[in-house]
Amino acid sequence: MRDTFLAFAPPCLDDAEVEAVARVLRSGWITTGPEVARFESAFSAGIGSEGALALNSGTAALHVALAALGIGPGDAVVTTTLTFCSTVHVIEQVGARPVLCDVDPVTLNLDPRRVAEALDRHPDVRAVLPVHLYGHPCDMPALFELAARHRLAVIEDAAHALPAADPLGIVGAERSPSGVPTACCFSFYATKNLTTGEGGMLTGPAQLIERARTWSLHGMSRDAYGRYEEGGSWHYEVTLPGFKYNMTDLQAAIGLVQLGKLDGFVRRRREIAAAYTRALSGLDQVQVPVQLDGYEHAWHIYPLRLHLDRLRISRARFIAELSARRIGAGVHFIPVHHQPYYRDRYGYAPGDFPVAAREYERLVSLPLHPGLDDDDVADVIDAVTDVVAAHRR
Ligand SMILES: *Cc1c(COP(=O)(O)O)cnc(C)c1O
Repeated sequence: MRDTFLAFAPPCLDDAEVEAVARVLRSGWITTGPEVARFESAFSAGIGSEGALALNSGTAALHVALAALGIGPGDAVVTTTLTFCSTVHVIEQVGARPVLCDVDPVTLNLDPRRVAEALDRHPDVRAVLPVHLYGHPCDMPALFELAARHRLAVIEDAAHALPAADPLGIVGAERSPSGVPTACCFSFYATKNLTTGEGGMLTGPAQLIERARTWSLHGMSRDAYGRYEEGGSWHYEVTLPGFKYNMTDLQAAIGLVQLGKLDGFVRRRREIAAAYTRALSGLDQVQVPVQLDGYEHAWHIYPLRLHLDRLRISRARFIAELSARRIGAGVHFIPVHHQPYYRDRYGYAPGDFPVAAREYERLVSLPLHPGLDDDDVADVIDAVTDVVAAHRR
């Protein structure tokens, strides 16, 4: 057995990030300034988006996107139940109503067929908020078509999808064929494919990004860097009751270094996912994740699904057995409609979204990050194989 615990998703940082932060600390400007502007330009150039706005979290990006698209009280927003809670919280936070939907059994992404049914039942829906779960993009051709037909905005939760692509193009680039209003939200939380400690990025058309920029910093017409630099004016105008969601230059300096490493990071993630799939797809007790034709998976998370009827132990015990073999594992995610706030507020029962409820019960995420070496990957494979062998029916 391993002599150290294999953490599920530690950040991949080295001296380059340390030096970048030290340089900014010594520069005399530590909040939103030139590093953030550079990070936004480099990010949007990499993705191929018209504009980009750096923020202090992925949740902030989602919140600001909804505000900038004018979603508010009286509106409803369709999204998936199988996501992190903040995807849905932001809908409540702008005063709108979330309409949860079930997921596709293959990808576990928002199912366009369920979205179409929800749109028939809820005429107040103004936007759809798909989540590219685990890094596998949603069926965006179908979702953009529904959005065009029902005149909806599309806000993508791309917290896992850096970098990823669907049949229409790169996630985060403007690729709606139908003139649908769009915004795309990335997260740079500590566990994500690119980290700034905490952080996020909104990409989209330049006009939306400028509106979101005002929303993100007190509703002020100009940022502090513009006001305090030489020749800057003390005068500002407040045009909206905006938020305080700006990214600092300290975070952007980390982000710029991480952006330079992203190609290598994703190459390693793909290698590890392929190694897991090669080794585990032969086991009858587990189901491995897939990448559909025409899609590029970002492999943020590697979700194994247990065939519990072929095992003598529960999912909780399976994770405990991995932990006993010093392998960290997780579950992504507890369906939002199971959570007390949403369950009680909207009267949801687990069976309302049967695919999500059923698949959630058998999900186990394996460790996946670029810092795993080949021995670590072999240890994860050995541990899963061993637990299955010890507890198969
Ligand atoms: C991480 C995450 C978020 C939120 O990002 P933060 O940067 O932590 O605010 C939103 N949605 C999903 C699916 C996530 O995994």
